[in-house]
Order: sequence, then structure tokens, then C-alpha cells
Amino acid sequence: MLRLDRVSKSYGGRLVLDEVGFEVRPGRLTGFVGGNGAGKTTTMRIILGVLAADGGEVTLDGSALTAAERRTFGYMPEERGLYPKMRVLEQIVYLARLHGFAKDDATDRATVLLTKLGLGERLNDNIEALSLGNQQRAQIAAALVHDPRVLILDEPFSGLDPIAVDVVAGVLQEKARAGAAILFSSHQLDVVERLCDDLVIIAGGTIRAAGSRDELRARYSSSRFSLTAHDLDWLAAQAGVSAVSAEGDTVAFDADDETAQRVLREALARGPVAAFGPQHPTLAEIFTEVIR
Ligand code: ADP
Repeated sequence: MLRLDRVSKSYGGRLVLDEVGFEVRPGRLTGFVGGNGAGKTTTMRIILGVLAADGGEVTLDGSALTAAERRTFGYMPEERGLYPKMRVLEQIVYLARLHGFAKDDATDRATVLLTKLGLGERLNDNIEALSLGNQQRAQIAAALVHDPRVLILDEPFSGLDPIAVDVVAGVLQEKARAGAAILFSSHQLDVVERLCDDLVIIAGGTIRAAGSRDELRARYSSSRFSLTAHDLDWLAAQAGVSAVSAEGDTVAFDADDETAQRVLREALARGPVAAFGPQHPTLAEIFTEVIR
């Protein structure tokens, strides 16, 4: 497990990371979410050792990270950096060889991965001849080709069309299922919501929430319920019920647990209830709440 403890960083006297701490667990995709300037790139650079923290530490399985371990990490930096004049396959094979794979093995790995990423037809094209979205897929291959146990990706989905997002997401999920610890930053909350197992939310250089997606959803859904039944016009007038909104036969409302149970009994007394339960907030709603 990769772990950050009380990591701090200032630029010219301005604190941009304030005792940042979270975990990136093996076998899971961790989404790192925050607005522009929140501190995501700075945190990732510190994990990779590209940037030194002013305080705190980054550990892997309980020991301080060494430079040799960091070199084994897969990293997709914010500033993309492939050689424009090199062919796609050649480039990824070259990177695999830098990680110590023999030529044939490196070629096999690069071919399989690029094909999975949808670049099977473009293997012999120069990087610069690819569309930006396809260059991004090649960048992802560059970070993944040596099957790293820790993978740090800065905005891997930005600039990808929805189909490419699904392709890349599928490849990342496969790597996570095979045991990699994957941290990826994103400002696209819908993508993160769909994809990640764990979530870390950062704003203004401090971690505002961290945990599994399901835990966070449960934590922030305590007062929102939804009820599906015919004719719920009476509901808004109930004591303790607020923020009622209806969509078809389903009504969402805020209430404490006791009130919600009373509402349910009332609804059952009036007729059949098709569904009732806590309503899980979207990641966008959680995000808005925790960064306030
Ligand atoms: P994010 O990746 O979440 O958009 P960053 O980590 O890039 O955020 O930036 C965090 C804060 O640090 C921002 O306010 C940014 O302006 C500042 N910052 C980042 N890099 C530098 C730098 N090299 N010098 C001064 N300030 C910086």
C-alpha cells in the first residue's frame, strides 16, 4: 500500500499542500478529485519524487519510498512527453526495454497493450501523426507497459472522447484487478464516479474526504430518502420533511430516520409503495458539500 502522511509543500511562502494524508491500496482504483489549483499535480509529483515535500512522508508497505522503487512506478505526468517523430510501437517497446524487458518480450507487451488501447492499426505511425486522443492513449501505454505495481496518472481522461474513456477505463480496471495500486487525478466527476473504488477529495491543499466510494456515499446520504408510490402530494406537508422534489412517481426528500419511517408508514397506509430507501448522493453533490 502506498501511503502519504502529513505531506506539506509551500511555494514562495504560500502553503499549497497542508498535511496531506491518504492511502492508495493495491487492487483498487483511487480517484483523486479536486478543482484547478487544489494540489493534485503537486501531490503526484511528490509521490514520484519529481518534487521534494517540505514535510511529511510517502511510504510503500510501511517503509519510506526509495528512488529505485519510484523508478518502477508507472507515471503519466501532466506534461505529456513522447517523442513526436518516433513510431508508436517503437516508442513503447523502447520504454519497456528501459524497464529491463528483453526485445521480444518488450515487443509482445507493447503490441498487446497498444491493441487493447485501440491503437492496433496505428502501431507504425509516428506519434505526431496521431490525433490528440490517440496520443493520450499512447501516453497511457507508456505508463503501463512494464506492469507497475503502483501507477500514478495525472488527468488520464482529459481530452478523451467517451468511447476512449471507456477503453482506457477498462484497461486500468484490468490492471487494478491484477493487483496494481492506481491513483488517477481527474476533474471529471462523472468519470471518477463510474470508475473508482476509492476516492480522495482535495481542495485548497487539504484533504476534505477520503474513503471507498460506497462509504462516502453512505456517509453523505444520511438525510436524503426516496419514495416511489402513486399520489404523494401529501408528503411535502408532513412535519420534519423538507427539500421535496418529484420525478414521475418518485419523490426525494430530506428527513431524519424517524421521520422517514413515519412517512413510509403513512404511504403504506394510503396504498402500495413500489420503493423506499436512502438516496445515495452523486459524487458531484458530495464534492460540493465537502469543499464548502
Ligand atoms: P491541481 O493539479 O490540483 O490543479 P497544482 O498541484 O498544480 O493543482 O497546484 C496547486 C497550487 O500550487 C496552485 O495554487 C498552483 O498555482 C501552485 N503551484 C503549482 N506549481 C507551482 C510552482 N512551480 N510555483 C509556484 N506555485 C505553484
